[in-house]
Amino acid sequence: MKFNTKLIHGNLKTDETGATNTPLHLSNAFAHNTAEKLEGIMKGTSMGYAYTRISNPTVTSFERRIASIEGGLAATAAASGMSAIYLAIMNIVECGDEIIASSGLFGGTYALLKNLKSYGINVKFLENLDEESLEAVINENTKIVFGETLGNPKLDVLDIEEVAKVCNKHNLIFIVDSTITTPFLIRPIEYGADIVIHSTSKYINGTSNSIGGIIVDGGSSKYKDIKYKNFNEYSKKFGKMAYTSKLRNTVGKDIGASLAPFNAFLNLTGIETLSLRMREHCSNTLAVAKFLSNNSKVTSVNYPSLSTSKYYNIAQKYYKNGASGVLTFRLGSKENAFKFINNLKMILNITNIGDTKTLIIHPASTICSSNTENEKEQMGVFDDLLRLSVGIEDIEDILFDIESAMNSIN
Ligand SMILES: *Cc1c(COP(=O)(O)O)cnc(C)c1O
Repeated sequence: MKFNTKLIHGNLKTDETGATNTPLHLSNAFAHNTAEKLEGIMKGTSMGYAYTRISNPTVTSFERRIASIEGGLAATAAASGMSAIYLAIMNIVECGDEIIASSGLFGGTYALLKNLKSYGINVKFLENLDEESLEAVINENTKIVFGETLGNPKLDVLDIEEVAKVCNKHNLIFIVDSTITTPFLIRPIEYGADIVIHSTSKYINGTSNSIGGIIVDGGSSKYKDIKYKNFNEYSKKFGKMAYTSKLRNTVGKDIGASLAPFNAFLNLTGIETLSLRMREHCSNTLAVAKFLSNNSKVTSVNYPSLSTSKYYNIAQKYYKNGASGVLTFRLGSKENAFKFINNLKMILNITNIGDTKTLIIHPASTICSSNTENEKEQMGVFDDLLRLSVGIEDIEDILFDIESAMNSIN
């Protein structure tokens, strides 16, 4: 199956009624005729469902759909993007381990990583995840390199192939958050990522009607390395499924941040139109980026598909179909930025991205307000910067709202 077909039919499992959508199984637990059957399911030696915190048929359907479109071996859904990131990391690290991460990460992820210090896990933030910077900080305790395909909101473009090469040389697990780009624009496993994360709350769901996350396992054999001794028994027993089987048998089960079946159902509905939506998001965003570039009140526009962007060349390598629906721009002062937001009529002032609707936020005073000035600078967040998540409304209406609000600024 090709990509668009997979979005709709990939690992589709319905039931004997002939329903065209995956049935929604709103049941906490599943009964079985014999003690032997339930024993087998709980041990993992036979197929079936026991308890929804562990697995649920509707959630499994969603996981299999995502694994199929990402080209992963397996996927594990979680209650939110944040829990997916937490679980993906905690499945690997132990006290004393080190993580290397980009400093341009989504604020919530940045905070999560910093908070790991109290568990004895040290994180080194790098402004650029490139070969030279990585080689300078990798040591025998390093286990993970973590980056975002496009940083949110810095919008720096991760050179996945280059980082994967370094990770492969040192047997490090390369985790990529592809929330902004989605499998429509890029499938990081094809470029060497070991684990791919999504906050499905954004483009995968598509209409902002459910919070969720997912961890896609590329099926790496790195876990066999003695460095990952906590994976030994899983590698022996499950081979390339070592990561996912450990995840499901340890932190996944322990923390119990499972995706609700109803949210999995909504995500399965949303994912079918991913390509249609992403094409519109990309073309509308490029149009908005060009419009803003030509406005004298805008001091700079950051969108990797814009030929003036410093990330243009690398964006052309990875994102030929467009650099998704998020851009940032600067208006010279915080006062102007606030005035602009306050004069918008249609565009929503909101802390979210990846909706069908166009959304705006002033990151410095909201999602990054707890970061230090130095951290904000590293994240590419300034007092006069606005982040726009361009929706799929008619471009004329989006531009009209932007132009009208712009006219309110002297
Ligand atoms: C929103 C977001 C997250 C967190 O996801 P939630 O579903 O809100 O928990 C993580 N990474 C990126 C890039 C995001 O945009």
